[in-house]
Amino acid sequence: PEGRRPFGYAIVGLGKYAINQILPAFGECQHARLAGLVSGDPQKARKVASAYGVPEKNIYSYDNFDDIRNNPEIDAVYIILPNALHADFAVRAFRAGKHVMCEKPMATSVEDCQRMIDAARRASKQLMIGYRCHFDPITQSALQTIRAGKLGKLRVVTTENTDVLSIDDPSGQWRVKRSLSGGGSLMDLGIYGVNGARYLLNEDPIEVSAIRAESSNPVFHEVEDIISWTFRYRSGALAHGNSSFTAAATSRFGIQAEKLSGTLNPATGYYNNRFETVAGEETHVLSDPMFQIPALNQFSAQLDHLPDVLGSGKPSLATGEEGMQDIRLIQAIYQSAATRRPVST
Ligand code: NDP
Repeated sequence: PEGRRPFGYAIVGLGKYAINQILPAFGECQHARLAGLVSGDPQKARKVASAYGVPEKNIYSYDNFDDIRNNPEIDAVYIILPNALHADFAVRAFRAGKHVMCEKPMATSVEDCQRMIDAARRASKQLMIGYRCHFDPITQSALQTIRAGKLGKLRVVTTENTDVLSIDDPSGQWRVKRSLSGGGSLMDLGIYGVNGARYLLNEDPIEVSAIRAESSNPVFHEVEDIISWTFRYRSGALAHGNSSFTAAATSRFGIQAEKLSGTLNPATGYYNNRFETVAGEETHVLSDPMFQIPALNQFSAQLDHLPDVLGSGKPSLATGEEGMQDIRLIQAIYQSAATRRPVST
């Protein structure tokens, strides 16, 4: 809103996602701005700071991070670190009196999610999870179409999220170390399907079953490569998902409903997602320019959402509770795969 100082974020962790997607997105924000950087690599931090006009005094290391408490230019921190580090940094940020945006997966255990939620409550600060798809215009239009009943009652949802992981790249290395990632392709990619099944069906499953493929590749010694799961719902619907670190990139959601079938493909891409419904020989594509979907940048919209929620009191689209529910279901998937038995949720 006019007259209000733009909301200042400090980015914690200057890795691939922060540098390539989040930092450039501040340029299209309405209410948010880049105010600080937190990094273990001072040289990189100085370079990024000078490229984005961040003053040197607003650069922090992981050791002096708690000093952000004394920096009024920083309203929130955005945690873009390896998964297992999210919880501790979120708790430290709340103790320093800041709001928190935290990347998915929220944390690597339900206990850590709860710790983050409790710390937010104690500090009376907002916790938001970086579920960018909630801000994707195609996903939003598809959800409007589904909620308006145009497809009829949803019966089966299928989610597929795969990508080939390169461990030559530093971001591939922590992803296969359980102590940093908390799990393999499910934690990294399959989580989009877990979250997607929940927003498409607007319902939480009552039972989870899952199976994990064996991998002889030593890279997948600590975490899973291929895993596949099924959620059973009280409404009578089913959702399926599979994820893999060794299959070429796909992000596809299939929706079988009573009146129409729909496909989101790509479903969870950074740009150019596409929603198509099929009835007999008729195909409608929602990403068509004729539908007049604004070319909204999902990253900027996500960054603007936190100050918007704080200023307007509107409900948050990506709360800590949402993040925790996904981790609860992911843990049920791992449990079912390990015991080869369905798990009630
Ligand atoms: P990267 O490995 O590229 O970056 C992680 C950064 O974290 C590093 O560059 C480093 O920053 C910092 N870091 C601190 N401690 C460690 C450590 N022990 N090992 C490795 N890095 C460390 O990962 P990504 O950017 O791909 O992923 C980061 C987070 O963002 C993950 O939680 C991931 O799930 C999420 N993500 C979300 C996406 C989305 O679409 N929403 C897409 C991609 C990732 P520095 O050098 O500055 O200290």
